[in-house]
Amino acid sequence: MRKIEHIGIAVKDMQAATKIYSTLLGHPHYKTEEVAGEAVNTAFFTCGESKIELLEATDPDSAIAKFIDKKGEGMHHIAFAVDDIKSETQRLKKEGFVVLNEEPKIGADNKWVVFLHPKSSNGVLVELCQERN
Ligand code: ZN
Repeated sequence: MRKIEHIGIAVKDMQAATKIYSTLLGHPHYKTEEVAGEAVNTAFFTCGESKIELLEATDPDSAIAKFIDKKGEGMHHIAFAVDDIKSETQRLKKEGFVVLNEEPKIGADNKWVVFLHPKSSNGVLVELCQERN
């Protein structure tokens, strides 16, 4: 793992949340992006070497909508930047982590992403991400 690439936060109202996080961080988000495959809208803020990703459901069946129904708004996942997502996924699988999608999928912000189930990492949903070239 190279660094914490971003922290994902599930929000109910993207417009209200981007306002709050702009004030908190002292600068506006640099992009918004809809990830249709996950039924989410995202907004990204820089924060030093890392980022904050706000996630808003675009469909009641989206994983973010279900998360908010169950737990309310809040921290949803931690994303770690990796150089080789496939080998890192295999390494962690061998170590006993529960990999949710073995084949990397296209995530927001031009990344390949793989998720690890929270039950194998003390209740935290982990995202591995690698820059797409
Ligand atoms: Zn993420």
